[in-house]
Amino acid sequence: MSVSPPPCTSLSFTDLSLGRPLLRGLAKSGYTTPTPIQSRMIPHLLAGRDVIGQAQTGTGKTAAFALPLLQNLAFSAKATPQILVLSPTRELAMQVSTSFSRYCSELTQLRVLPIYGGQEYASQLRGLQRGAHVIVGTPGRIIDHLQRRSLDLSSVGSVVLDEADEMLKMGFLADVERILGEIPEKRQTALFSATMPASIRRLASRYLNEPVEITIEETAASTPKIEQHYLITNGIKAKKNALETLLEAQSFDGMLVFVRTKLQTVELAEHLSSRGYSCGALNGDIVQSQRARMVAQLKDGKLDILIATDVAARGLDVQRISHVINFDAPYDCEAYIHRIGRTGRAGRKGKALLFLHPQEKKMLHALKKQTGEAPALMKLPTPSEINALKREAFKLSISVALEEEGSFFSDLIDEYCREHDVAPHLVAGALAKMCHEKTPLFIDKQQEETHRNHGSARPADSQARHRLPRNSTTRPQKPQTTPPEQGMDRYRIEIGESHGIKPGNIVGAIANEADISSQYIGRISIFNEYSTVDLPYGMPPRTLSHLQKARVGSRMLRIRKETTPLREKASAAQKSIKDKVPSPRLHKSTPGLAAKKAGKSLHL
Ligand code: AMP
Repeated sequence: MSVSPPPCTSLSFTDLSLGRPLLRGLAKSGYTTPTPIQSRMIPHLLAGRDVIGQAQTGTGKTAAFALPLLQNLAFSAKATPQILVLSPTRELAMQVSTSFSRYCSELTQLRVLPIYGGQEYASQLRGLQRGAHVIVGTPGRIIDHLQRRSLDLSSVGSVVLDEADEMLKMGFLADVERILGEIPEKRQTALFSATMPASIRRLASRYLNEPVEITIEETAASTPKIEQHYLITNGIKAKKNALETLLEAQSFDGMLVFVRTKLQTVELAEHLSSRGYSCGALNGDIVQSQRARMVAQLKDGKLDILIATDVAARGLDVQRISHVINFDAPYDCEAYIHRIGRTGRAGRKGKALLFLHPQEKKMLHALKKQTGEAPALMKLPTPSEINALKREAFKLSISVALEEEGSFFSDLIDEYCREHDVAPHLVAGALAKMCHEKTPLFIDKQQEETHRNHGSARPADSQARHRLPRNSTTRPQKPQTTPPEQGMDRYRIEIGESHGIKPGNIVGAIANEADISSQYIGRISIFNEYSTVDLPYGMPPRTLSHLQKARVGSRMLRIRKETTPLREKASAAQKSIKDKVPSPRLHKSTPGLAAKKAGKSLHL
């Protein structure tokens, strides 16, 4: 993904009269040029004026207020609160507090303290007792501390109402007013809001003093750096198929997928995890520490996809998010703007995709009206297009491996070719097959067929997964060469077409007898004398022996895991290697060494 600089102006940070320590803090943050809101807002705040900033997150508004307020802060050894920032969510409070700490990292004695709901009181009380110059908090928790008298705002000289529209939407108006009532009237106030409804105007006219108003026209929704598309999808299965097709076809860095309910975050995350994607569910039930861990994992690439609800994802600032998928359409345009603002951060490019039910199409007009731009219709790639991409990606991965490979494996292959009198390209083919045993390289013909019928690269419903080629006389009579799907093992059943078996019989018998939901039953192929079915990895032996005795009509399934004689030999060989190598667990005192030994032996 290409990284473009943030929208910049002709001014530099040094032109903005910021002191050296702050300039060094900015350099550490990697900021070189002020964004428009920074260059327009900083001079007014430095001059002590009240301001209203109409700007989205992603425009650099945090630095626009943090830098001038820090610059004007009269440092006192006794750390009493001088700057108060009110944020609607704990996520935003943490983020803003981190930004403050980064900017003033060269002002070592300056203390910044986040205070938000969901965090235990003890550490907040300790922080307040030690004292802080900057407090960043959510309204509810700030009120709690005011009531406990653990927080005194009488020394605050500057207050920022960040994402004021969100605060009011979340019902914090009374709390905000109460907090403002605790701060001396002679103060500087800055209000930031993505939208300017009448309620925000009223708040501003009551609490701000002749504010300078700055609007950053370029909203996250209208800026060209976020490419917006929509797709008409009918029903959850079609959406899942479309999402999976997209994941196959598009290279992405980090992805945020929005759904409406907590339950869906978990279900979809489980579904994608079972397909091999590293993903997590972010919803309001997740405790703060776990949430922070997940966000950190998304940041450092340990997680690639987060499935989130609107509330849980509010304020999320992860520059790696290259794609936002509106799996469920948002309730309104504002929510859509907030959602897609999670990508295209810090001047990067981003992509947003909106899944719409045919009846939700009117949302496109509303978006056009509100942002001046409606998402464009997206065409999902066909299986052949995906396969062409996969083919190229596979070739590329060979080139990369060739560059990185020393002589160890090539010597081994030479040895093999000599010993077995086989051409190297045949060995290369066998190795490639081994690599893709669990994850087929290409989308297969059956799925292509389904795509033609359903307009998606994957089967549109679970029945389709079991559907056979329409012409029964062309059924394969030889064992399939396509390996089982990822996460699946292939099983053989001793009942075939000659016994009159249908896919539905197999699904029914397995679902009922093994209590495996039909959605987890994979590809079924029916041959003359027997059939095969792909089932999730790791079937417990008891379930298997139970299934062996299950019947379709009068015949027993006699199901067993499918293996070829050579494969059996290979797995026996591996087992004997494992038996010879001490298990890492036996070497508790030197686990690294034992693990290394075990790892090495498997390469033999
Ligand atoms: P904000 O709108 O304050 O949430 O900032 C959005 C993102 O832009 C954050 O990741 C900031 O670290 C980044 N950012 C803000 N100002 C600049 C700048 N002048 N140069 C580069 N990145 C910036």
